[in-house]
Amino acid sequence: MRYVIIGTGVAGIAAVEAIRSLDTSGEVFLIGDDPHAFYSRPGLAYYLSGEVPEKQLFPYSKHDYHHLNLHYVRERVVSISPEQSNVTLASGQRLSYDRLLLATGSQAAPLRVPGTDLEGVVKLDHLEDARRIVKLARRTREAVVIGGGITALELVEGLLARKVHVHYFLRGDRYWRNVLDEEESRIVLHRLHEDGVTLHFHTEAAEILGKRGRVVGVRTKDGRVVKCQMVAFAVGIRPRIQLAQEAGLNVDRGILVDETLQTSAPGVYAAGDVAQVFDPLTGHAVLDSLWTPAREQGYVAGLNMAGKRAAYLKATPFNVTRLAGLTTTIIGTVGRGRDEDIAGIARGDSETWRELPEAIVAQSGFDVNRLRLLVGEERLLGAVVMGDQKLSLPLQKIIAGGVDITPIRPKLLARGVSLAEVVADFWEQVRGQFYAA
Ligand SMILES: Cc1cc2nc3c(=O)[nH]c(=O)nc-3n(C[C@H](O)[C@H](O)[C@H](O)COP(=O)(O)OP(=O)(O)OC[C@H]3O[C@@H](n4cnc5c(N)ncnc54)[C@H](O)[C@@H]3O)c2cc1C
Repeated sequence: MRYVIIGTGVAGIAAVEAIRSLDTSGEVFLIGDDPHAFYSRPGLAYYLSGEVPEKQLFPYSKHDYHHLNLHYVRERVVSISPEQSNVTLASGQRLSYDRLLLATGSQAAPLRVPGTDLEGVVKLDHLEDARRIVKLARRTREAVVIGGGITALELVEGLLARKVHVHYFLRGDRYWRNVLDEEESRIVLHRLHEDGVTLHFHTEAAEILGKRGRVVGVRTKDGRVVKCQMVAFAVGIRPRIQLAQEAGLNVDRGILVDETLQTSAPGVYAAGDVAQVFDPLTGHAVLDSLWTPAREQGYVAGLNMAGKRAAYLKATPFNVTRLAGLTTTIIGTVGRGRDEDIAGIARGDSETWRELPEAIVAQSGFDVNRLRLLVGEERLLGAVVMGDQKLSLPLQKIIAGGVDITPIRPKLLARGVSLAEVVADFWEQVRGQFYAA
């Protein structure tokens, strides 16, 4: 049996682990065009801010790879042929397969303004991007950051940590409008302001200006010029579906898969950021660009490739992130529809967050300790926990477990109540069902 896996990200690696748990003798080819192979992409933000050294981004040792007994091919795949069961590499070499996994991830959506080819225009997809930013930051006094999601903020914070003055362009007057509410957005923006970031509301870039091939400023749509030596953008991401599309597989915004993560071509699977999977909560096929679902999907795809039937059940999305230095957990459904600042989906994002079925919002807390709950008829649909994280794990269990909240629903919706206390008391009553012997 020969397994070919395209993509050395977490989905690809998890698939190899699953295959090896069932099949120790089959041939495994892991192909990837990232020169650094497998590393933590979420960790890039902490590398940028100088909190994590580069070597800590790599979770696997040589010994771990040796243990997986794989053939690593550092190349780009230029086409796949499901009819002939082979893939073609950039070198022209062909490799046949019995089972194929597309774990090609996603990449930054392009910034569509003139001047993006100038030196000093950067994005944050890969380790090479992060290295470039670190290098350029040494001779950058001012930078413009464009985009409204987590990655844009990571760029802002990374540059601040490197003593670069940041101009942050927001298309509207809110940060991450589709996921955060007005108050949460205000908290983030206030903290950025306190940190010395110049916030430019209702501002869009019209053109990046250059001199001798290098960035010298940005002209805005309302005709102002902001001087800078760097422009960093994060305006959404695009799943890398091209190989699947050209091979005639069923694709939408991602590669469409069934519950075993098989694509429309028998023997060809897709997992991770590139896969569009069915979400029982919303009834739609959705994209997740989250690390944990990518790992889980890769693992399930690997099991199926090695002959064990396994179904992938999309779990309640959960992400712990840091927004302007404030730890924030986002669970389940919390959003308010499409974000005008983000094209499609952002890094570390889940489309499920944006779905807002009939839900009543309950919120409490102030400034940095804030809790927002999306309250359904019988269960909690989602939560945003900012600051103090004591309740984030209990809330994840309550939401993902679909726990019946009818006993506390009136209290949750009462005026002036401390939601944190109500949830903490409720957790004491129900926690036994999660940790029963
Ligand atoms: C800056 C940043 C911050 C993030 N923050 C968070 C966070 O806080 N929380 C969270 O849950 N998630 C976060 N994410 C998202 C998370 O990292 C991704 O969801 C996850 O890495 C997806 O894994 P994957 O294996 O599907 O794809 P990827 O990690 O993108 O890997 C795909 C691989 O395929 C390779 N490839 C693509 N096409 C080809 C080809 N034709 N030939 C050969 N190789 C190819 C690529 O080079 C790449 O190495 C963040 C991502 C970034 C970049």
